[in-house]
Amino acid sequence: MSPQRISHWIDGKGWGGLAEETGEVFDPATGEVTAHVDFAGPAQVDEAVAAAARAFPAWRDTSLAARGRVLFAFRELLAARRDELAKIITAEHGKVESDAAGEVARAIENVEYACGAAQLLKGGYSENASTGVDVYSIAQPLGVVAVISPFNFPAMVPLWFVPNAIACGNTVVLKPSEKDPSASLFIAGLFAEAGLPAGVFNVLHGDKVAVDGLLAHPAVKAVSFVGSTPIARYVYETGTRHGKRVQALGGAKNHMVVLPDADLDLAADAAVSAGFGSAGERCMAVSVVVAVDPVGDELVGRIAERMGRLKVGDGRDPESEMGPLVTAAHRRRVESHVEAGVAAGAELVVDGRGLRVTDGGFWLGPTLFDRVTPDMTIYTDEIFGPVLCVVRAGSYDTALELVNGNPYGNGTAIFTHDGRAARRFQNEVEVGMVGLNVPIPVPVGHYSFGGWKDSLFGDSHAYGPEGFHFFTRRKVVTSRWPDPAQGGVNLGFPRTT
Ligand code: NAD
Repeated sequence: MSPQRISHWIDGKGWGGLAEETGEVFDPATGEVTAHVDFAGPAQVDEAVAAAARAFPAWRDTSLAARGRVLFAFRELLAARRDELAKIITAEHGKVESDAAGEVARAIENVEYACGAAQLLKGGYSENASTGVDVYSIAQPLGVVAVISPFNFPAMVPLWFVPNAIACGNTVVLKPSEKDPSASLFIAGLFAEAGLPAGVFNVLHGDKVAVDGLLAHPAVKAVSFVGSTPIARYVYETGTRHGKRVQALGGAKNHMVVLPDADLDLAADAAVSAGFGSAGERCMAVSVVVAVDPVGDELVGRIAERMGRLKVGDGRDPESEMGPLVTAAHRRRVESHVEAGVAAGAELVVDGRGLRVTDGGFWLGPTLFDRVTPDMTIYTDEIFGPVLCVVRAGSYDTALELVNGNPYGNGTAIFTHDGRAARRFQNEVEVGMVGLNVPIPVPVGHYSFGGWKDSLFGDSHAYGPEGFHFFTRRKVVTSRWPDPAQGGVNLGFPRTT
């Protein structure tokens, strides 16, 4: 099959121009190029932002009831066509279809939350705050907002932001990952079918050029970014320098602490599920298991035994539990981390290198290191692949020090039956999302998602209440309806009476 062309979605339709730059999109299970995606230059950035800016006044003035109806219709379409979207994700990302379906399910949660906009956007009203004076607050949209998303959740991460932004009355330019661009176009089609007016949601494909264009564009009022830490930091610094509101979620190194009283079978199940699901390409993947003495040998044995039974294969095969990595370049990067771990003296318990399911696919099998130490690059760097590192710790305190000493603070988990220890951990750990016997503690849609330290730049987490806060600005109105009896000039500072 000859590769397809994938292009931008601007002002309610596919872009018909001729791109100066394009990128290749692969089927990770075969290595074939399945599409060429257009990359936006400065002119296309202007075109997309202009379309969103034109659509803003009417969308901002569209009633909450009418906006809500579009979101409800979108939710129904997304739910009805979830399997199609899951297949699109698998074809370009490589994750197995059941996992892609899970991604879509979590995306739907966020749409459902946004459907409650009429309730969530209510302001406060204080009657007679001062004599004859009423005070109330209004939440208003910002204008055009940009969403820049990573490859690993091509549907869920855009839908962390887009429904809430739109529900609040903003218009959006989404710049998805160039590695798996098709899910965003499928979403754009569903929004159009749901009755969203042209220009309210636009998709601009591309790389750094498109991102830089959005960060500098004066009509873009806010940026929601998700990706690796160096780019998140860059986006935060550049966007805020241009006067924009920015939330930039970065990378992770999530530790799972296993205390001696934990159920080791459940802990091993959790470590394998959370370490190798989606081939470790999740920002909430467990990448470090901290085994508190004396459970190390036993836990490593049980993890290795489970890894031996994992079925790696094409994500379209219902038997497969783990798919390939997203690109050949990423597979090489992950492999070089494994080589560095071996060279640094970590104990390679399971070696996933050399796995070959198909000739051209980007395969790497589940890999396990034991006796990893904090100075090794396999510990310090985010690997973002199917590589699990076990660090031994002498006590709860040493384990906690390790987690808190790490520059990332996205997710963490503790496995124990000791409620007192778990409660202490939730209080003392410097991480934004904490699981107690839950390895991937992604908050439900009516909470908010976000890490601490180098895992998030800005002060708003994604989706849920903080998402609504991020996508609105508050105005407070103080009103008095004139009463001739209260006239008279008074130069004193107004005080409540
Ligand atoms: P990435 O940082 O390479 O890319 C993210 C986005 O930034 C993409 O749209 C990409 O086109 C753009 N980009 C890449 N290089 C750029 C540059 N130099 N200048 C401007 N824009 C640039 O991330 P990725 O590889 O697509 O995704 C994986 C990363 O995302 C991992 O680090 C993972 O932990 C992180 N992630 C974090 C979360 C979270 O919630 N904290 C969620 C998912 C993924």
